Amino acid sequence: MSDYDSVSADVEHEEEIPEDHPRYQDLLTRHRIEAGVEKGITHLQGMHAEGRGSAFDYLLGEETIPSADDAERAAAAHLLLAEHPVLSINGNVAALVPGEMVALAEAVDADLEVNLFNRTPERIDAIADHLREHGAGDVKGLEADARIPNLEHKRAKVDADGIYDADVVLVPLEDGDRAEALDEMGKTEIVIDLNPLSRSPQVADVPIVDNIIRAVPNMTEHARALADSDEAELEAIIEDFDRERALENAEERIRSGDL
Ligand code: ATP
Repeated sequence: MSDYDSVSADVEHEEEIPEDHPRYQDLLTRHRIEAGVEKGITHLQGMHAEGRGSAFDYLLGEETIPSADDAERAAAAHLLLAEHPVLSINGNVAALVPGEMVALAEAVDADLEVNLFNRTPERIDAIADHLREHGAGDVKGLEADARIPNLEHKRAKVDADGIYDADVVLVPLEDGDRAEALDEMGKTEIVIDLNPLSRSPQVADVPIVDNIIRAVPNMTEHARALADSDEAELEAIIEDFDRERALENAEERIRSGDL
């Protein structure tokens, strides 16, 4: 047994996971989801979602493939051009990348909105507090005074001056029904999901097939690099991005990549 085999899945602090462990990102992700469940911000179902994601990430080689990097750049361009961009936060997103989402929101001047599949006031408050602990100012999603059309009541709740009003939304790890309903509202939808065959990336204008842990910091880097670009440059980046090709490249990598 190597030293690494003895790394327990339930370490108390993420610093205990050795950074040079071959499965470092996977262990870190798992640890953060478990800590999120303990803190009351992640639903138990979030663990299953994480397990599915982890399997796809393994097949992708646990790296940002070139077509995902293109998608992350196009997403940054969309967010910078938007009138009212909103970044949607669910329990897994809050557990995995709270500070990174706050940094992205700052880089593109977007709102953060808590948007939960299993919505309870306690979980909404816990996530909003968790985001504030990571530097967020205003957090939306607490009012829930508007509804996404064509969606069952409980899952349709959003803020009137948040997701409902947004022209560009980032919905990472989103449920397929809600992603379809947001698409039908005519919003420009950016989805982060490791499964290219899942419905959410299939309906997205910009499907990002990458682990959210890598995708969000990379989008922020692209946004910072593009901050001084004019509208025409940003529009050209968006125009060049081919969503079908991005989905095909990811599927191709998963089916035939070298592991
Ligand atoms: P559908 O979108 O068709 O409803 P689903 O039921 O598989 O598909 P959910 O369980 O609602 O989807 O969401 C989980 C999705 O999130 C999975 O597709 C999974 O691959 C993805 N996922 C999980 N963890 C991550 C992660 N760390 N980064 C990116 N995607 C992830």
